Amino acid sequence: MQNNENKLLDVAYFSMEVALESAMNTYSGGLGVLAGDTLKTLADFNSSAVGITLLNEQGYVNQEIDPTGKQVSEIEKWNKEDFLTKTSIVINVPFKDRQIKCAVWQYNICGQFGKKVPVYFLDSNLAQNNKYDRSLTSFLYGGDNYYRLGQEQILGLGGLMLLAKLGFSLEKVKTYHLNEGHASFAGLSLFKQAKEEFKNNKKAKDYVASKLVFTTHTPVAAGHDRFSLSDVKKNLSTDLFNLIPQESLVENNLCMTSLSLYFSGVVTGVAMTHEKVTEAMFPKHDVINVTNGAYHLQWTHPQFKKVYDKYIPEWRQDPAFFRKAKGIPDEVIWSAHMEAKKELIKYVNKIAVNKFSEDVLTLGYARRFTSYKRPTMILSDLDKLEKSISKVGKLQIIFAGEAHPLDREGSKLIGEVFQRVQKSKGKVNIVFLEDYNMDMAIKLVAGVDVWLNTPLQKHEASGTSGMKASFNAISHLSVLDGWWPEGWIEGVTGWSIGSNSNKAILSDKKTWKKEVDDLYHKIANIIMPMYYEDRSKFIEIMKNAVSLNGSYFNTYRMMQEYMAKVYFPLQKNIFTQKNLKKNIKPKK
Ligand SMILES: *Cc1c(COP(=O)(O)O)cnc(C)c1O
Repeated sequence: MQNNENKLLDVAYFSMEVALESAMNTYSGGLGVLAGDTLKTLADFNSSAVGITLLNEQGYVNQEIDPTGKQVSEIEKWNKEDFLTKTSIVINVPFKDRQIKCAVWQYNICGQFGKKVPVYFLDSNLAQNNKYDRSLTSFLYGGDNYYRLGQEQILGLGGLMLLAKLGFSLEKVKTYHLNEGHASFAGLSLFKQAKEEFKNNKKAKDYVASKLVFTTHTPVAAGHDRFSLSDVKKNLSTDLFNLIPQESLVENNLCMTSLSLYFSGVVTGVAMTHEKVTEAMFPKHDVINVTNGAYHLQWTHPQFKKVYDKYIPEWRQDPAFFRKAKGIPDEVIWSAHMEAKKELIKYVNKIAVNKFSEDVLTLGYARRFTSYKRPTMILSDLDKLEKSISKVGKLQIIFAGEAHPLDREGSKLIGEVFQRVQKSKGKVNIVFLEDYNMDMAIKLVAGVDVWLNTPLQKHEASGTSGMKASFNAISHLSVLDGWWPEGWIEGVTGWSIGSNSNKAILSDKKTWKKEVDDLYHKIANIIMPMYYEDRSKFIEIMKNAVSLNGSYFNTYRMMQEYMAKVYFPLQKNIFTQKNLKKNIKPKK
C-alpha cells in the first residue's frame, strides 16, 4: 500500500461506471466514457486524484441481434487479471445487520506527462460474504432496485472506507466529486463524520459542502434513482439512516439526486441547456454549468493523429490548438478522412447485405437505444427521403447502440432499425452494427461523413459522441439539445434539426413531423448537394468542426472550468457557497 501520510488528495472521483479500455467491460455508455476521459485528463493535469468504482466483474451486457431483430443480451465477462492488479486492501462496508467485505483492484492511468492516477475497483466477490453479497459488484446496472441499493452503498460508503485506508481521511481530501447520484451515500457518511468532529450540525454540513461536488446527468425526473425508505431502513446502519435529511425524500422514497443536492457545495450540469432543465426540476438549487468534453487523445483517429502531429504538434499538449486545423490543406484533411472512411466501410461490409461504398455520403448514428433519443427518426418516412434525394445521389446510414435489457421500448427501436435494414435497397442503404463499444465508436466518429443526433429536446443532458466526431473533422447534424446549441453555427460547424424553442413532449406529433421534414430537407437540399457537388465547401465545414468545436468541447477545457469555477474556489474557501454561485453566475 502506498504511504500517503503527508499527502493531500485533490480529487476523489466516484462513478458507478468508468470506461478505461474498450475490452474492459466496466461501462455501459456516455457516463462511463466521461468518467474515464475525466480521470485521464486529471492525470495529464498532474493532479493527485483517484477514481473509485465497482468491479462490475460480469460487465455490462453484450449485444447480439437475432434474425427477427430482437436484441439478445448476453453476459460478457471480462478477465480482470488482464487489466487490474489486486491490492492488499480489504474493507468492511457497513450494512445494517452485517458488514460486506470488499477486495480492491487497481488500474493505473498514466498521464501523458507521467503522472499516475489510480482507479480502484471494489469487489465483494469474497468467500467471507454470503452468496447475495458476493454478487453485488458483478453486474453493471443489473438486478432489481434492491440490488442497486446495495451496490450504491458499496460505492458510496465503501469508497470512503477505501480512501481512509489509503490515508485520505476527510481532512486530507480536498474535493469529493460524485459523477451522477449513485455514490450519494458518500455525502451522508461524510456528514456523519463531520458531525462527530464538530458536534454542530450547521458547521458539519458547511464543512462537507466545502468538499463535495455533484454532477447530475439526468434531465428527466423518472431517471433519478429512488429507493423505498423501508428498503433503505433495512439496509443502512441506523446511525446513518437517522441522518437522512427530509429534503431528500420524495413520496416516502429516498431520491439519490436530492440527497447529493442537499449535501453538495456545488452542483454542476453538463451543458447550458441541461443547467436550465435541472434548475427547473430542482428550483431550490443553483446549478453551475460545466459543459462536458471528450478526451482528445482517446477520441482522435490514428489517421488524424498523424495529420495533427505534423501540422499542429501542440495539439497533444493542449487541444485548444485544434483551432489551427483551419490552416491544414484541404487535401490533407480529405485524405485522412478517406482513410478512416475506408477502414469503416471495410468493417461494415463484413456484415452488410447491400455493400457500402466509400463514395457515398454516410451518416452515423450510435448511442444507447432508448425512446427519448429517437433513433428511428431518420427512418420514419424512407420513401419520402428516397424521393427527395433521388436527383442528388445516394445515402448510407450506419446505426449502432445497445438498449438496456429492461428497456423494452429501446429494444423495440432496435428491432425497427433492423427491419429497415432488411428492406433497405436503392437510394438509402442502412446497416446496424452489433455490440457498440469504444473501439467501434472511434471507427464510427471518424469514418462517417456527418454525425447525426435526434433526441427529444430537453432530454439529452449533453452527449459526447458528436464532440468526439469533431476531433476527426466530422460535422454534426442534430436537434438543438445537449451540447449542440453551444457548438452549432448553422452551415458553419454543421446543421440543426428543427428550432430550439420547441416544447418537449414525446407525443407531440407536430414537432416530430416538423423535425423530420427539416431533417430531410437539410439532407436532400443542403448536405448532399454540398457533398457531391461542392466538395471544397464540405471540407471547409469539416475543418470548422475541428477548429471551432474540437478546440472547445474537450476534457482539457472542461477540467480547466472545473478547476476555476468549482474545485479551487471551494478548496480555497474563496467564497462562501452563496457568494460562489453569485460570483460566477450571471444574473438572470
Ligand atoms: C461516447 C460514447 C457514448 C456516448 O455517446 P452519446 O453521444 O453521449 O450518447 C456511448 N457509448 C460509447 C461506446 C461511446 O464511446
